[in-house]
Amino acid sequence: MRLATIINLAYGATVLLTLASGTTMLLASNALDRERAAVAQREQLDRASADLGKDALVLSEHARQYIITGHAADLEAYDREFARLRADESRIRKLGDAGAGVDEIGAVLDAMRLAETLHDEQRTAIDAQRSGNETQARAIVFGAPYERQLDRVEEQVDRFQDRLNRRIDADVGQATGIARLWRTTSAIVLVATGLLFVFVLAFVIRLRVLRPVVRLSDVVTRLAAQDYAAEMPATDQIDEIGDMAHAIRVFRENGLERQRLEEEAKDDRATRDLLSRMMQRLQGADTMRDLTEVVQRFVPEIVQGMSGILYLHDRHRNAMVERCRWKLPRHSRSEFTPIACWALRRGSSHRPEGAMIDVPCDHLDRIPGAIVNSICLPLIAQREALGLLYFEPIADAGERSATPETYMQMLAENISLAVASLRLRDALREMAMADPLTGLANRRQLDTMLDLLLAESERSGQTVSAVMLDVDHFKRFNDMFGHDAGDLVLREVGAVLRDAVHDGGLAFRYGGEEFLLVLPAVGTSGAIDLAEQIRQRIAALHLVHDGRPLGAVTASIGVANTPDHVAGGRLVRAADAALLHAKQHGRDRVIVAVRDGEEEDAA
Ligand code: GH3
Ligand code: MG
Ligand code: MG
Repeated sequence: MRLATIINLAYGATVLLTLASGTTMLLASNALDRERAAVAQREQLDRASADLGKDALVLSEHARQYIITGHAADLEAYDREFARLRADESRIRKLGDAGAGVDEIGAVLDAMRLAETLHDEQRTAIDAQRSGNETQARAIVFGAPYERQLDRVEEQVDRFQDRLNRRIDADVGQATGIARLWRTTSAIVLVATGLLFVFVLAFVIRLRVLRPVVRLSDVVTRLAAQDYAAEMPATDQIDEIGDMAHAIRVFRENGLERQRLEEEAKDDRATRDLLSRMMQRLQGADTMRDLTEVVQRFVPEIVQGMSGILYLHDRHRNAMVERCRWKLPRHSRSEFTPIACWALRRGSSHRPEGAMIDVPCDHLDRIPGAIVNSICLPLIAQREALGLLYFEPIADAGERSATPETYMQMLAENISLAVASLRLRDALREMAMADPLTGLANRRQLDTMLDLLLAESERSGQTVSAVMLDVDHFKRFNDMFGHDAGDLVLREVGAVLRDAVHDGGLAFRYGGEEFLLVLPAVGTSGAIDLAEQIRQRIAALHLVHDGRPLGAVTASIGVANTPDHVAGGRLVRAADAALLHAKQHGRDRVIVAVRDGEEEDAA
C-alpha cells in the first residue's frame, strides 16, 4: 500500500474517531439533562402532593370551625380554602401530563377522590348546620368515619410520594448510569483518537522525515569525504526534504563533474609530461636507431589502448618501410608505396572509421564486413613525406579514454621534426665528408676510415686491398674542352667507381684526378679483377660536352694488398707506387705491387 494511502486512511480514521468522541460526549450530556429533568419533576410533584395533603387537612379544619361557631366568616374561609384546593388539584393533573406515570397519577387521583368524598361530607355537615341541625353536622365532621377518611387521604398522599420517590430514584440512577457509560465511551474514543494521531504523526515523521534525513545525511557525509560513489536515495517528495535531496543531488553531480575534470586534467598533465620528455629524447637522438627506440618507448604510453607502427620513407625504393612496432598491430603491411596511404596522399591525418566516415587505406588488410578503426598520421617536413605513424585499436583497450587527436598530431609533428633533423644532419655530414664534384668520400674520411678498417683486418685476419687510379693525360681535357668538360670526366669516372664498389668497399677522391678504392675482405686477385673491370668501363665511356665528343678516357691503376704485399701502414703508398709504374709502362693498365718491391704488369 502506498504511503499516501496509509496516511489518508489514518487521517480518515482520526476524523471518524473524533466525530464519535463528540457524539458520545453529546449523548452523555443528554443523559445528564434527563437526570436533571427527573430530579426537577420529582421536586414539583413532591411539593404539589404535599400541598394536596396539607390543604385537605386545612379545609377540614375550616369546615369543623364553621360547624362549631356557625359564623358566616368561617364559612367564607372554608370556601376560599376549597377554591385553593381545586387549584392544587388542577395543577397536579397538569403535572401528570408532564411526565408522571399512570399508576402515580392514579394514586394522586385516588387521594383526590377521597378528598372529594370528604368535601361532600363537609358540604352535608355545613348544610345541616345551616338548617340548624348542629348535632348531625358535628356527628359528620367529628365522627370516626370522617377521621378515617381524612387519614386515608393522608395515607394516599404518602403512598404517592413514596412511589414517586422510588421511580424518580430509578430514573436518576438510570440516567446517571447512561451518562457515565457515555462519558467513559467518550473518554476511550478520545484516548484512541489521540493515540492514533500520535501513531500517524510518528509514522509520518519516521517515514517522511527521519528516514530520508538519515539517508541524506549519510550521503552528505560521504560526499564531504569526496566519496562521489555515494548513491542518492530515490525521493520524489515535494517538501523541504525533497528540496534538500535535490540540492544534494546537484552538489553530487557537480562534484562528479569536478572529479571527472580533475581526472582529465591529471591525464592531460601526464600526457603533456610524456610528450615533453619524448621531445627532449628525440632532440638528443643521434641516429635513426635512437629515434625508433624513443618512439617505441614513449608512443605506446602516450597513446594507450592502441597498437602502432612507425614507417620511414626509403627514397631509393620509394617505399614506406616499417622501422618499429608496438603492441602487436595486425592490419597494416610492413612495406608499401606511399600512394597506398590516404594520409600520405592528402598530407593530413586519415581515419576511415569514427565520426567522419572515409575510405580505408590500401596498406590495410581488408576485413570482410568491417573497417579497421585505424589512424594514419603522415610525418611531413618541408612538404616532403618522411614517414607515417600508424595506429589501430587493441582488443583489450578496456575503459581507457581515447587520446585526444591534438596530442596525436603533436606526436606526429615531433617525430617528423626529429626525422627531418636526423636526415638533415646526415646530409650535412655526407656533404662535409664527401667530395662535392663526384659525391665520393674525400681524403679526410680516408684517414679515419682506413685506420678503422686496418685495425679491424688485423683483429679479424682479413685482407684489405687498395686500388689507386689516375686519369691519363687529364690535363688535356681541361686544355682542349675547358674546365667544365674536365669536371664531367671526373664525375663520370667517379660514378664508375661508385657503381663498382659494394659490400663494404669504399671509394675516395684522393685528389685532383686521382681516386682510391679500399676493399676489405677482397684478396689480391679480387682487387685485380675489379681494377681491370673499372679500367675497361672507363675506356668504354663516350663522353660528350657541349655537343663535342671528348674522345677516349683511360686510366692507370695500381693495386696493393695487405698482408700479401705490404703491412697495412704502407698499403696506400704501395698502390701509389704500382700506379706510377702503370704510368711509366704506358698508361691505361693495371699494375700490382709485389712483395719485394718488383712490379708486375697485370694487363
Ligand atoms: P698524367 O697522364 O701523367 O697523369 O697526365 P695528367 O695530365 O693527367 O697529369 P697532371 O698532373 O699533369 O695534370 C693534372 C691536372 O688536373 C692539373 C689540374 O689542373 C687538373 N685538375 C685537378 N683538379 C681538377 C678539377 O677538379 N677539375 C678540373 N677540370 N681539372 C682539375
Ligand atoms: Mg695525377
Ligand atoms: Mg693524370
